[in-house]
Amino acid sequence: MTLNQSGWRPEMSAGGKGAPTHTGNRALMLEEPLIFEIGSTRTTGVDFAEGDVGHDRLGGLTRRAAIGLPGLSEPETVRHYTRLSRQNYAIDLGLFPLGSCTMKHNPRLNERVARLPGFADVHPLQPVDTVQGALAVVNELAVWLIRLTGMHGVAMSPKAGAHGELCGMLCIKAALEKRGEGHRRVVLVPESAHGTNPATAAFAGFAVEDIPAAADGRVDTAALEERLGPDVAAVMITNPNTCGLFERDLKRISDAVHAAGGYVYCDGANFNAIVGRVRPGDLGVDAMHINLHKTFSTPHGGGGPGSGPVVLSEALSPFAPLPFVERRGDGHLALVEEQDADDRHPDGFGRMTAFHGQMGMFTRALAYILSHGADGLRQVSEDAVLNANYVLRSLEGTLDAPFAGSGPCMHEALFSDAGLAEGFSTLDVAKGLIDEGYHPMTVYFPLVVHGAMLVEPTETESKAALDQFIGALRAVAERARAGDADLKTAPHFAPRRRLDETQAARRPVLAWKDAPLAQAAE
Ligand SMILES: *Cc1c(COP(=O)(O)O)cnc(C)c1O
Repeated sequence: MTLNQSGWRPEMSAGGKGAPTHTGNRALMLEEPLIFEIGSTRTTGVDFAEGDVGHDRLGGLTRRAAIGLPGLSEPETVRHYTRLSRQNYAIDLGLFPLGSCTMKHNPRLNERVARLPGFADVHPLQPVDTVQGALAVVNELAVWLIRLTGMHGVAMSPKAGAHGELCGMLCIKAALEKRGEGHRRVVLVPESAHGTNPATAAFAGFAVEDIPAAADGRVDTAALEERLGPDVAAVMITNPNTCGLFERDLKRISDAVHAAGGYVYCDGANFNAIVGRVRPGDLGVDAMHINLHKTFSTPHGGGGPGSGPVVLSEALSPFAPLPFVERRGDGHLALVEEQDADDRHPDGFGRMTAFHGQMGMFTRALAYILSHGADGLRQVSEDAVLNANYVLRSLEGTLDAPFAGSGPCMHEALFSDAGLAEGFSTLDVAKGLIDEGYHPMTVYFPLVVHGAMLVEPTETESKAALDQFIGALRAVAERARAGDADLKTAPHFAPRRRLDETQAARRPVLAWKDAPLAQAAE
């Protein structure tokens, strides 16, 4: 097999400088066709002779039609997937500046601990007596999360931040119904919020209303207080917020929301910036999810696996979902799976997941927490904030930093597209960064800033790594300010240039059709 036989043509490649190569590869930048283009349904990767079996034991389940998969040998298959994997960016390859998403190094120690057979091989239907150690991990992590947040209880089962939001909002709904106030249907969400906040509130059956941001990038407290009333169920607020700023008024907001009969949901995705320094419970928060895959370093990417435990106030804890771990008088750990005969936990709203949650993530998160200790976690948040401020102050002369005058930022630095040359946008800066060998920062979010660029370095980057990134972003930003036409067609050194991202998201082509190759390559 040679690659050009598979239908690759030089003009299908991203471009780049220099003459096209015969294979379409450019050194280690490999041009990899689809597996259906390499293999054929007419060939096979194995060459066993046709069997001469008198009677099979398949009970009449013998396949009647061809399966339609390309036949490839083992080395061909391994190479295909290995080559594809090299086209991915990863936290183990370089700095991942995605704002809002806290992409930090995943310590190898945690991986090792999670792979211990006693954790890796447990089955959710195993007798509870045989998984006491695993339950102890869940319980110990739960205690850490409660202590770090100053809250009363925690629901461990939600499997991502957004799932945790849903869990918290369902607790709020159950609490309101129990009080006979199910008519409270409005949830107030600041306009800088992550899209999952309004989506969750709507999914849980609430009506969402926006609260504007003030000129300094924080929520407009007066507008929020003004809107409170007997129809408001809750406020969903992110702290530190998605502009990278601490919501200084949160305690005042919580007091006002409580006085008006509502609950406070805090989006805790940015908890990394305040761990060990601020306890959300002290700020009057009733429910907050913690993204273990962000703050506590468990792997994050490709859609999972995440884990989003929700810490709850005393008012909401009775409504937490099942199951949960409980320590009995004799020290034995039990899994409360259903409302038992004693009818303890009678108000739990139900269940979020079939089983207990993400064991592998719990193990990694606890290993991370224990290896840092309480003082180490505090150091983490301080270093994360320091790194973000270093990025902000290093680049504010090159890129417009709309809230730089509001004081130091927290975990992430926010820039806008003001000052780029006519016709140049945030997208061009992001694409230019790809040529520099970086995954782009978060772009066009939060919505309150025009052409937003949100950079979150995290504490795991050294000063040298930050300097290199800052140098790269500054160089690209200067090209965008100067109107360098070449930047409009970046990236030049990636396997593909600019895809139609909207079409790719809205109408992904997921199934192989024997389409003309030019079309298939799009
Ligand atoms: C990541 C994030 C979420 C959603 O968390 P997932 O784990 O991706 O579901 C919600 N809010 C903010 C601010 C986030 O950054």
